[in-house]
Amino acid sequence: MSSPTGATYPPALDDARERERLVQVVKDWSIANGLAVRPPPAIAANDAEGILAMNAPVTLFPSPFPKSCFDDARAIQAQYNELYARISQDEEFLGGLVQEVAGGDEFIGHLWNVHLRVKEEGYVQNLALGLFRSDYMVHQDGDNLQIKQVEFNTIASSFGGLSAQTSLLHKHLAQTEYPLLTEPIPQSSFELPANGSTNGLAAGLGAAFHAYGKSDLGHPTCVIFLVQDGERNIFDQRHLEYALQADSIPVFRLPFSQILTHTNIAPSSSRRQLLYHLPHNPTRTFEVAVAYLRAGYGPDDYTVPSAWEARYQIERSAAIACPSVLTQLAGMKKVQQVLATPSSTPSSGPSSDPTPAALRRLVPSAAAAASLHRTFTNIYPMDALSPAGLAARALATDPARCQKYVLKPQREGGGNNVYRAAIPAHLARTPAEHWASYILMELITPPPVANTILRNGVLEHGGVICELGVYGTCLWDQGSGEVLRNEEAGYLLRTKGDQSEEGGVAAGFGCMDSVRLV
Ligand code: ADP
Ligand code: MG
Ligand code: MG
Repeated sequence: MSSPTGATYPPALDDARERERLVQVVKDWSIANGLAVRPPPAIAANDAEGILAMNAPVTLFPSPFPKSCFDDARAIQAQYNELYARISQDEEFLGGLVQEVAGGDEFIGHLWNVHLRVKEEGYVQNLALGLFRSDYMVHQDGDNLQIKQVEFNTIASSFGGLSAQTSLLHKHLAQTEYPLLTEPIPQSSFELPANGSTNGLAAGLGAAFHAYGKSDLGHPTCVIFLVQDGERNIFDQRHLEYALQADSIPVFRLPFSQILTHTNIAPSSSRRQLLYHLPHNPTRTFEVAVAYLRAGYGPDDYTVPSAWEARYQIERSAAIACPSVLTQLAGMKKVQQVLATPSSTPSSGPSSDPTPAALRRLVPSAAAAASLHRTFTNIYPMDALSPAGLAARALATDPARCQKYVLKPQREGGGNNVYRAAIPAHLARTPAEHWASYILMELITPPPVANTILRNGVLEHGGVICELGVYGTCLWDQGSGEVLRNEEAGYLLRTKGDQSEEGGVAAGFGCMDSVRLV
């Protein structure tokens, strides 16, 4: 891509002095501004006091990103928020999908059972909060560039805290460093949109905190972040905590593994208030208004039976769980597949509405349903009954035809998918009765972009693939179905080398980036 000065953008930085200078500025700015992670175990082993932090992997330049795609992704977020709030309340729809996948997926079955247990005694909290992130890649169809959704996250949607900082880093570099390069890039040539991801997500948590109201029991109220032990991506979370605390909202971090040790349900009240007792001073008790899960999204957090009791305690309490079990389940890849799979009814001729039936049912406005539908790529079920499932099974087991696909289980957090040629062998190892717990998705192949990634102090230059995430917050009332607050909440750009299939930053594949709109 050419810049207004005629030079290639982003520059390859052939001059070693120029490279070193930029790297030094990035390293220092990142630590000074909390664009950082805790070190990996090999380094942490020599850091008994736990004082070390290191740069989060990041691109040296903001990647060029089509403005029309960026605008589309932001504009549609409120509709996605509303759609997923609706799915979260559609127990019958979710229950049916859980049945389809739970045979091959114990974890999903366990989650559903937590919901059933609470349903039996009755939920005591009608308010629900979603901090969502809808992820996209750019799909090129001739001259036409469109966003296509990779997935929709409804639990522990991370990197909002680091993403705002990455946007600020690139803005800083555009003001101070890029104009000084041998082939200077003028600041005026950068369109770097403001990124309110930290404040946007914190505002969502804050709105739920205030909506919860005061404690009937006379305790101060608080937000708890339920986190994983040994979390390396802690500063991402800390940025959100600090934003809440700046608004005078008490926030505490509690490892998921210690929920039953430091919280209990108020014993003498039918409202089931969740009480949090400060571990260092158990006489100080807070009533939990919002339980924000940055853990509990995968089986690794439930290795002992008490972990399921802990999740049950959160779910049955009066705290607003972000997310509830049903909202977490709404994020199943199976849900995304069903929304995207065209209905094949006998009456559907060429002139009939191409919008999938589930989407049409869940989104009353035909125009909104059509806009959402345009962001989908082809996704197929893997069941043995439907024509689409049978066709997908034939495709996924054919080494010649599976090259353009990714096979996904109902998992979160990266590193779980099976790509291209590896699909048939993976299925051959998987009992056929478990195949229905996967979905098969067409790979999106964005137009080529190059950039330089700084990871562990080392530069990697080459072709990259960018994934845009748009955050959204939504607060709704499950009793009335009313959406009380629905906001788009900033963005994330994650970039990975084009030889890597996975793009997770925390999983070590991708890096932080921001958009330069083109
Ligand atoms: P997870 O919930 O584990 O993050 P994703 O569906 O986001 O699962 O898949 C992980 C990564 O795999 C994505 O970040 C992306 O890099 C890649 N990926 C997933 N689906 C596609 C797709 N349809 N086309 C291209 N890449 C994909
Ligand atoms: Mg995910
Ligand atoms: Mg993902």
